[in-house]
This record gives sequence, structure tokens and C-alpha cells, in this order.
Amino acid sequence: MTEHAPPADDQPAGGVRVRFAPSPSGDLHVGNIRTALYDWAFARHTGGTFVLRIEDTDRSRVTTEYIASALDTLRWLGLEWDEGPEVGGPYGPYLQSERMDIYREWVQRLLADGHAYYCYCTTEELAARREAARAGGGPSGYDGHCRVLTAEQVRAYQAEGRMPVVRFRMPEGSTTFTDLVRGEVTFDHQHVPDFVLARADSSPLYTLAVAVDDVLMKITHVVRGEDLLSSTPRQIAVYRAMGVPEERFPVFAHLPYVLGKDGQRLSKRNGVVSANWYRQEGFLPEAIDNYLALLGWSPGDNREEFTLEEMAAEFDLARVNKNAAQFDVRKLESINGDKIRALDPADFVSRIIPFLQRAHVIGDPPSDAEVALVTAAAPLIQTRISRLTEAVGMLVFLFAGAGFEVDAQDAAKVLTPDAAPVLRAAEAALAEAEPWTAEVIEAALFAALVEPAGLGLKPRVAFAPVRVAVTGHRVSPPLYQSIELLGRERTLARLAEAAKAAG
Ligand code: GLU
Repeated sequence: MTEHAPPADDQPAGGVRVRFAPSPSGDLHVGNIRTALYDWAFARHTGGTFVLRIEDTDRSRVTTEYIASALDTLRWLGLEWDEGPEVGGPYGPYLQSERMDIYREWVQRLLADGHAYYCYCTTEELAARREAARAGGGPSGYDGHCRVLTAEQVRAYQAEGRMPVVRFRMPEGSTTFTDLVRGEVTFDHQHVPDFVLARADSSPLYTLAVAVDDVLMKITHVVRGEDLLSSTPRQIAVYRAMGVPEERFPVFAHLPYVLGKDGQRLSKRNGVVSANWYRQEGFLPEAIDNYLALLGWSPGDNREEFTLEEMAAEFDLARVNKNAAQFDVRKLESINGDKIRALDPADFVSRIIPFLQRAHVIGDPPSDAEVALVTAAAPLIQTRISRLTEAVGMLVFLFAGAGFEVDAQDAAKVLTPDAAPVLRAAEAALAEAEPWTAEVIEAALFAALVEPAGLGLKPRVAFAPVRVAVTGHRVSPPLYQSIELLGRERTLARLAEAAKAAG
């Protein structure tokens, strides 16, 4: 037992050690990310260590692929860990599936010390007794049936071939701890029945593995979601049974729930929860971080927009709200638009390129000419979009050579027979425009379509068909610059084509 003994007589590692401990059985969801963000910010603010531990004891749910995706998502969000998978550290391994021997050893030790016992009750027996207890109005948790078995009873169970689980002997009394978000919290152990530490096949359960690891990894702060509040008295009881002195117990901080629009806990049913979905939909990591930071915390002033570094500088658990926070995708989108506008132009280009590639608007890798065109067009849309995905619809007209298509609905509305002479006049005017710049294009179109010497139309009537003919949509980047970037040849061809279609 010496190898994995609790840190009873050595000094704590020193400084804050806070862990994020996901069990990724799918994409990390918004609630996980909020927890990771607060863990990270707390570690950075205090100059402590951010530990990432993957709780994958149930490998039927937590797969290698989900773990890889979780690491990728955290890195994308800028939440780099100091210890954990891929980076290592002095208290590894950081995947619980690689720590099974440690848990088995602790189960044996807890059994030997009398803190745990074998329980032979079958699922059916447990269910029947639970039902009876409920009917009698009593507590429906485990009733302590196997706490004291005679040698004879044990032999009889073994003769039946029953395989026991290992249960923790929850002491009488109560547990009180000071939660850094919720204040003093007390659990009466009447409501904390003896719980299973290890299954019949000796695989550990969450409560054992989490407590053992928090102790062995010298975690000083457990900052996690409120859904885990009720497991805290069990964990504290395990620390005590492991022989950890009270002053070395981690401090807990339980973060408020994140709710969907309907006021229920955010889930697939009332919102989109997968962090990867937001990534694919063109949300910036800095916008997600910023928005999730606000779901339960705020800097001292009324600022709503800040960087990850600013958050780390100011983060304080004392200012985390006890009340649940409501997830509002429109607010996230508005922050996303602001963060997009604030990007350095070259950075904006590098962010939209992957979306244009995925949509096959440009090649993968793109040619130099494609990159040059994206770079020239990017300033036309940077202030006009609130998700990077919108760049695809706005810029596709510049790249779609022979495959260019006019939106059918917009064509039906705008490319009517009345539009044909407008389009022909535009074509004639632009055939002559020299040099091919946005200013000259604008002047030429005004002279031909709007001025009394030309067609004398209202600008709205004049330009809608030109815009649809050239960009394919009624909503587009600024028209004259778009035409300049598209080039004379393709512009004239599209105007001629649209004029023919209009009649
Ligand atoms: N692995 C647990 C979960 O994802 C969280 C463990 C903890 O933070 O204590 O729900």
C-alpha cells in the first residue's frame, strides 16, 4: 500500500490544484465546457495547476474517440491543461481506465479496515426491499442488509454462486462542508445510504475512483456542476476512510445549473448542447468562452465582453452566482458577431477559409488566387456576419464559375420581365466602365439606371435585379465592390444570362 498511500505525512504539493474530470460519453456539452472554463480560470487566477483527468472507468460509454474529441475541444477553446492526458505530470496516469489497480488496492484496504463490506444482495432482492420500504414510507436506499453477515450466511451465498459487490459503510451522523459558491452545506447521513464502491467484477464506481484520485492527485479544489453536490458527503466519507486528515480535504465549489429557454436543465430536448455543434456552426472559441463565462459569473463591473486572459485575471469563485443561469443562443450569437468584427483582418480570413473549404467553395488546399480573392472579399463581409458559416453564402458567388446559380425564390421575386431592360442597360454600361473599380462601376450604373438621362428608376428598383443577377441573392456584400471583385467578364455574362431568363 505504500506506493499509493494518501499524502498523510508528506507536504501538500503547494498552491491550488484544481481538476476538470469529464466522462466524455459524447461531445463535451455546454455545461462541461462552462465547468472546464471556471476550473481553468480559477487555476490561472491563483497561479495554480489545472489538472485534466478523464473519468473513463466505464469504457462502454466513454470511448477513445470521445476522449480525443474532448481534448481537441478544450484545446480549441484555449483551455490548456498543465497536467493530464498527452502532457503528463507527476500524478498520472490521468485516464482512470489506466488506474484500475490503484482502485482495486484501495477497495482491499477499505475492506480490511472495515470501512467497506461485501454485499451479496441481488438486484431483485434490492428492488423488492426498496419497494416494501417505500410502501411503508421509510427511506428507500440500501438498508444495510449485508453490513453484518455471519460466516454461515456468507458461505451460503457463496454456495449459491453469488458474486458480491463492495459497499461502503457510511458512518452515522452528518457531513457539513463550506462550499465556496453555496456556503455551508449539511447532509444528514440518514439520506446517504451505504453505496457501492466496486462491482462484482471488481471494477470501481465513480465515487471511489473520484475520491481516490482527488486525494492521490493532491487536488485542493473541486469546482464542478451542482448535479454532483449530493455525491460530496460520500466522497468526504471516503477521504476520511482513506486516512486523509480533514485539513487536506479538497474545498468544494458547485456551479449553478445551466438552463434551457424553458427553464429546465439544458439538454438535447430544449437546446443544442454539443460544443462541437457551435464550432461547426461558425462560433469563435473566444465568443463561446466569453459567453459561458457570463453564465454564472461576471466581472466586478458591467462589462459583458472580455478575453480569456481578462477573465483569468479577474476570476473569483466568490462572485459565482448561486442561481441557475439561462442559456440564450441569441446572446451568444451577438457576442460572436462582436468578436468577429474585432478580429484582425488576416485572422478573419484564416477563420473563414476552413468553412469555405468544407463547403467546396474553394479548394483544399486553396490556390493562391483563391486565397487572394478571399482576402480581398473578407472586409466586405466581416462586419455583416454573426457566424463564420455565413461567409459561405455571402462569398460563394465570387467562386462559382460555370456552376453559379441564382437563388430561385429571389429570382422569382426580382427577375421579372420588367427587369430585363434594366439588366441589359446595366450590361451595356459596365461593358464600357473604365477603369474597373467600385467607384467607376457605381457611377456607370447610376448614370445608366437612375439618372434621368438613363432609365430614371428609383435606386431600389434599379439595383435589386442587378444584385440578384450578379451575386445570386437579394442580400449580398456591398454591390459595387462585389462587382469589382467578380470581374468584368463574369459580371457581363451573368447580367446577360439573367436578362434572358427575365424575358
Ligand atoms: N466525471 C464526472 C462527470 O463527468 C464528474 C466528476 C467530478 O467533477 O467530480 O459527471
